[in-house]
Amino acid sequence: MKKRRDNTELICSIGELAGLFTDTTGLENFLQKTVTMIAQHMHSSVCSIYLYDDSSQLLTLYATYGLNQKVIKNVQLRLGEGLTGLCLKELRPICEQQASKNLNFKYFSGLGEEKFESFLAVPINRGANRIGAMVIQNKEKDFFTDVDVNTLRAISIQLVNTIEMARLMMLLSTPKTLPVKKFNIEDLRFLKGRVGAVGYAYAKGAVFQDDKQWSQMFDDVEIKNFTLKEFHQALKVTEKQIDDLQKDVEEKLADVASLIFSAQILMLKDQAFISLIEEKIAQGINPPFAVASVVDDYADKFLKIEDDYIREKSLDIRDVGVRIVANLLGGQHKPGAVKNKIVIARELLPSDVLKFSSKDVQGIILLTGGTTSHVSILAQSLKIPLIIVSRGELLEMPGDIDILMDADQGNIYLNPNKDILKSFAEKEAAKRTKVSVKAKTLTKDGQLVQLYANINLLGDLQTARVFKAQGIGLYRSEFPFIIRNSFPSEEEQFVIYNKLVEGMPGKEITFRTLDIGGDKVLSYFEQHSKENNPFLGMRSIRFSLAHQDVFAQQLRAILRAGAQAPLRIMFPMISSVDEFVQARQLARDCIDQLMIEGKICQQQPLFGLMLELPSVIEIIDALAAEADFFSIGTNDFIQYMLAVDRTNEKIANLYKPYHPSILRSFKRIVQSVLLKTDDISVCGDMAQDLKYLAFFIGIGIRKFSINPSFIPRVQAKIETIELGEAQRFAQKALSASSFSEIERLFI
Ligand code: PEP
Ligand code: MG
Repeated sequence: MKKRRDNTELICSIGELAGLFTDTTGLENFLQKTVTMIAQHMHSSVCSIYLYDDSSQLLTLYATYGLNQKVIKNVQLRLGEGLTGLCLKELRPICEQQASKNLNFKYFSGLGEEKFESFLAVPINRGANRIGAMVIQNKEKDFFTDVDVNTLRAISIQLVNTIEMARLMMLLSTPKTLPVKKFNIEDLRFLKGRVGAVGYAYAKGAVFQDDKQWSQMFDDVEIKNFTLKEFHQALKVTEKQIDDLQKDVEEKLADVASLIFSAQILMLKDQAFISLIEEKIAQGINPPFAVASVVDDYADKFLKIEDDYIREKSLDIRDVGVRIVANLLGGQHKPGAVKNKIVIARELLPSDVLKFSSKDVQGIILLTGGTTSHVSILAQSLKIPLIIVSRGELLEMPGDIDILMDADQGNIYLNPNKDILKSFAEKEAAKRTKVSVKAKTLTKDGQLVQLYANINLLGDLQTARVFKAQGIGLYRSEFPFIIRNSFPSEEEQFVIYNKLVEGMPGKEITFRTLDIGGDKVLSYFEQHSKENNPFLGMRSIRFSLAHQDVFAQQLRAILRAGAQAPLRIMFPMISSVDEFVQARQLARDCIDQLMIEGKICQQQPLFGLMLELPSVIEIIDALAAEADFFSIGTNDFIQYMLAVDRTNEKIANLYKPYHPSILRSFKRIVQSVLLKTDDISVCGDMAQDLKYLAFFIGIGIRKFSINPSFIPRVQAKIETIELGEAQRFAQKALSASSFSEIERLFI
C-alpha cells in the first residue's frame, strides 16, 4: 500500500534552492547538496544526478546521495541505455515500482543499487536540449506515486538553468576529464551503422582529429635535438611531398582536383611563417616544437576569424605543420597518417573526402552526417566505403586496431576473427567474378526499363561504360565548383564537360545545372556561410537565378560541350513554372549569344527539371506542359516533404522514403507527367534501393538514373519483377496509411 505524502511539503521553496549556494565550495559540492536536499524532500533513500555530454552522447553520474560515492564519474550510460538513459532519450519520466524486473534496468557493480526497488527518473532538459537526469530510489517496492513524479519534475524544472550552468563550467574547467566514454574493444567488436557509401574494406583504423596530432607525435617518444639545417631539409621534403600529392590528385581526379593543396604549398613558401619558426629555433627551441608552436599560433588565429573559409584553412596549416614535423622526426616517428587506413572522423567536408582519396584511404567511419548527404555521395563516387555510426568512443581508438567494414550492410567489425575475415574475403571474391550486365534491362515479362548513370566525378564514367549505362541521367555539375578555390571559368568548365560528353559518345547526357547550397557550400563564396537554414536558403536554382553571370558561364560551357550530343539541361530544385521558364529563357539567351559570337553550340537541347520540392505536386500539369523531361530527386523530395534534414543523423529515423505522403505524391506526379511524356526518371537514392523498384515500376516509371556501380544489382532485381505483380504491389503500398502496414511491404 502506497503511503500518501503531502505534496505541499515536497515542493522546494526558492529560499531553499538559493540556500544551495551558501557555503558551496565548488560545483560538485553544489550538486551534492542538491541531491541531499531532494532526497530529504522526496523521502527517498537515494537521489542521484547524471549529466549529459552531447558530443559523446553519454550520461555520467556526478552526484549521489545514498549510493556509493566512490564510483561517481565512473558510472556512464549511453543515451537510451538503462532506465535513466531511456528517460533522457525519450524526455519523459520513468517510474518503476520494481526496477530490477524491467528489462531496461542496467545494473552497475559497485554502485550499491541492488537493494532499491522503487525507481523514478526524470529528465533535466530545456526543450529538446538534454542536460541530464535526476533519479530517486527507495528500498520499498511500489513507493513512488504520481504526485512524486510531478514533484520531481517540478524540482528538475526549477533547477534546470543552474544545473546546466554547472555542467558547462565543469566540462570547461576539466577538459581532460570530459566524460567521454572510454574506448573498450570488448564493447565494440561489432557495430551496426547506416550505409553512406557501399563497399568493403579491411585495414587499420586511424582517427582523424586535428587537435590531437601533436600529442600523437610527441607523447611517449624521446625527441632528439635537431638543427636549423635539418629543419630546412624537412621543409624541402614537405614541399616535394605536397607537390607530388597535388599532381597525383590531378591525374586521378581531373575535374575536381584543381589546386586542392594550393593553400599548403603557399604556406611553405610564406617567408613570415618560416621566419617565425627560424626565430624560435635561434632562441634554442628544438625545431619540432618550434614548428608546433608557430603552427598552433597561426591555426588559433585562423580559428578566431569569422569566416568559414579561413577557419577551414586552420586545418590546412595544421596539416602542413604535421608533415614538416613528421619529416623532421623521420625514422623516429611514424605519423598517425591516414594513408591506406580506415578513417574515423566526427565530421567531414567534401574536400576532406577528396584529400582522403588521394591518400588511398580505404574506408570512412563517420560519427555524424546523413546517408544521402553529399559527403556520402562523393565517397560513393570515389569508391570509399562509408558507414555512419554515432559512437563517440571510436574517436579514442588506438592505432593498432584492425577494422573490417561491410558497408553494403552497414556492419563494422573491430579486430575481426579469422572466420569473419574468411567469409568476407569469399563473399568479395564471389561478387567480383559474378558481375556481368546485359545491354538491355527487361522485366520478367519483357518490359523495357532504362538504366542511366548518375555521374558525380568524371571517374564514374568508366564504371558507367563497363556496366552499359544507357547514358547520363544526372550529372551533378557542382562538384568541380565545391572543391575549387574560386568559381571555375567558362573555359575550365568547358574542358570538364567536354570530357563528360566524350566519355559517353552518342548517348544522352543530362547536365544538371549548379546545385550548390545546403550541404554543398562554396567556401570561397561568402554569402553562403552566413545562412541559418542553408537547405531552405540560397540553394540550387535560386543561386543560379540570383547570380546570372555565374549561371550564364555554366550554361555556355554546357551548350558548347554538348554541341554534337543529345544534350539535356536539367534545372534543380524548381518550385514553380515561372522559375523553370526563367531558367530556360536564360539558357536560350545564351544560345543566341553564342551564335552571335559564332561559337559552335547545341541549339536545341531538351530542357527538364528535377522534381524534388513538394510545391511541384499541385502544379505538375502546368510543368508537364512546359518541360521536355522530368526526374524525381527522392533525396530532396523526402527531406522537404517530411521536413527532415537529410544530413542530420539524429533524426535519421524520421527520414522515411516509404511515408504514405511520399509514395502517393510520386504516384500523382508520375500519372500527370505520363499524360504528356514518358520521359520521367527517378534519380535519387531510392532508385538504387532494390526494395522500391517494384513500386516505381508499378506506378509507371521505366527509367532510373543511379550510381553506375549499382547497375548490376538493380538490373538483376528488375529481371525478377513482373509488371502485373508490381502494379498490385504499388496499389497495396498506396492504400496503406500507417507505417506499420507499409513497413510490412517494404522491410
Ligand atoms: C535528389 O535530391 O534526389 C538528387 C538526386 O539530387 P542531390 O542528391 O544531388 O541533391
Ligand atoms: Mg537534390
